[in-house]
Amino acid sequence: MRLSQLFTKTSKESSKSDVSRNAQLLTRAGYVDRLMAGVYQYLPLGLRTLGKIENIIREEMNAIGAQEVLMPSLHPREIWETTQRWDKVDVLYKLSSDREGGGECDLALGPTHEETVTPMVGGFVQSYRDLPVHVYQIQTKFRNEPRAKSGLLRGREFRMKDMYSFHADQADLDAFYDRAIQAYLNVYKRVGLGETTLVTFASGGVFSKYSHEFQTISPYGEDVVYRVPGTHTAINKEVIEDTDALKDIIPNYKPGDEKNLEELKAIEVGNIFKLGTRFSSAFNVSFTDKDGQVKTPVMGCYGLGPSRLMGTIAESMGDDQGLIWPEEVAPYKVGIINLKVGHAEADKASADAYAKLNAAGVEALLDDRDLSVGVKFADMDLLGLPWQLIIGPRGLEKGAVELKQRATGERSELSLDAALQKLAGR
Ligand code: ATP
Ligand code: MG
Repeated sequence: MRLSQLFTKTSKESSKSDVSRNAQLLTRAGYVDRLMAGVYQYLPLGLRTLGKIENIIREEMNAIGAQEVLMPSLHPREIWETTQRWDKVDVLYKLSSDREGGGECDLALGPTHEETVTPMVGGFVQSYRDLPVHVYQIQTKFRNEPRAKSGLLRGREFRMKDMYSFHADQADLDAFYDRAIQAYLNVYKRVGLGETTLVTFASGGVFSKYSHEFQTISPYGEDVVYRVPGTHTAINKEVIEDTDALKDIIPNYKPGDEKNLEELKAIEVGNIFKLGTRFSSAFNVSFTDKDGQVKTPVMGCYGLGPSRLMGTIAESMGDDQGLIWPEEVAPYKVGIINLKVGHAEADKASADAYAKLNAAGVEALLDDRDLSVGVKFADMDLLGLPWQLIIGPRGLEKGAVELKQRATGERSELSLDAALQKLAGR
């Protein structure tokens, strides 16, 4: 992409209605545009990053044998009544299909999808041979969040990967649940949050002792977790009160050990639960087991928010100059800065570099705008691409260009060929 062609622009002004750091950086860089509180439009650069995050999640879910589907956002009221959640879920958006207006609400916008996936999968399950089933979707969710002030971290319309699993017995669910934890950890590692994301014990509810949250340490987080020192394990607020749980989680627990836990602010970037038969029995899903007995499958559910993850990366990795993307999720790997547009040598070398990188499959953004060097440097820093290839007349005289790494600020001078080889990973 040539920056001169990109319809979005960067801005110096930070938005007054959007105070969160992730929203400020992402809006200023032209990745997203705020429509109203908790609702964003994804612009070309932002959509590329969101798509990369979603693809990483997709690859990791496929790798544990889950199958992708796409379920609707528009739900009939009755499925939410079947599970007794129509009146209980306070974030549920309710609508009326009465075209005259004033009619009773008979529809909901999906905030989660147990109500659609359970009868859907149930329709295909008759025997134990049809189990297990693991399905997921990456889709837009709607929740009437009371505090939608944190940019992409808390949307009223947001992206979620939600996976649901159906098993003939508890042991099979437990085994898959552990594989899901591993798949989640792979996702966080690949998006650059591996070191700062903690597997956090949360309360389990009726069907299991614990559920698990994946919490990324961040001073901007809304949640508080207690980290077991030296580990990537933590305990959330509800569980910290429970001595039995502390014995389970803290190695060689002695009373008082909880005082040594590190209290940290964190952002919940994933959440997984064992649902037991809560939903399968509500929808009368059953199967015939090996011995001819009719049974109800046990379920698990596994949520992960790509848009919140994008906000978390922006929030925790950015600096005063702007965004900093890890390579796997950057919209482009390298930004080429032509320091002097209109100078024949610089134009030619820049166009050459752009063509060669494209041919080598390296995603590049070419700043071919006729603007001051200061503006171009500031913009490229704000956009946060991992590498900057800086090409100007003075360097070219001695056959050199500069390669700058955005995260460290490290610069090196080298020949254009050597720079291109480095970027192409050869
Ligand atoms: P929270 O406690 O932060 O409100 P939750 O526990 O209600 O979240 P889940 O229903 O477990 O969230 O959703 C699964 C995942 O979807 C979360 O871990 C998070 O990554 C993402 N998510 C949930 N709510 C939002 C939201 N309002 N905006 C963006 N992402 C969200
Ligand atoms: Mg949660």
